[in-house]
Amino acid sequence: CGIVGVLGHHQAAPILVEGLKRLEYRGYDSAGIATIHDGHLDRRRALGKLVNLSDLLVHDPLAGTAGIGHTRWATHGAATTRNAHPHARGKVAVVHNGIIENYRELRAFLADKQVVPETETDTETVAMLCDWFIGQGQAPVEAALSTISRLEGAYALCFLFDGEEDLIVAARKGSPLAVGWGEGEMYVGSDALALAPMTDEITYLEEGDIAVVTRAGARFLDADQQPVERLRRRVSVDA
Ligand code: GLU
Repeated sequence: CGIVGVLGHHQAAPILVEGLKRLEYRGYDSAGIATIHDGHLDRRRALGKLVNLSDLLVHDPLAGTAGIGHTRWATHGAATTRNAHPHARGKVAVVHNGIIENYRELRAFLADKQVVPETETDTETVAMLCDWFIGQGQAPVEAALSTISRLEGAYALCFLFDGEEDLIVAARKGSPLAVGWGEGEMYVGSDALALAPMTDEITYLEEGDIAVVTRAGARFLDADQQPVERLRRRVSVDA
């Protein structure tokens, strides 16, 4: 279970897979990535080891310089390709580590609105809810904040949006998450080790924090969704 995100200038797919490799030590049953290509979300997922995802990407490449990646340790829903992350619904793709405790309540709320799940996971509910808020006229960041404020449980989350080449929203509650600073490029990762090949300038999200990330940098919100300053520090990891 690991998360990587990139808003870069180079192709995202190899960077995401490399980052996920560095999180392999955590264990996982499937893996996947999503990118924005020609303005649109697309994704590839594979069961089993990362090499299966790499092989898939050789035969069916995924272009784009903005993306999110995930290794899954299934908690809700069997270890299948369909249940693998990223989960994508409408204009939203989501990767998640942890457990959304109130996903049944959220599913019931969405079922009332004719939004029904396509997977067995708790995580898909996050994408469904966020896409529903966008359907209600909310902008992507607003929709992500609305979604996060309704989640109970433990999570590290990244949101990527159709039509948004320069935006990742990341959130942390109960699962670690870090933002990495590059030169006109930005990263998100479960830990500094995942980001070590790209950058050693790291901001660790604190409990309840949300990061709104673009290539120009990141701004942070606290658990009350109020703007907050977070330290950017140089870390040393054995790369
Ligand atoms: N609860 C989510 C799932 O089962 C995320 C699991 C994880 O942390 O990888 O899909």
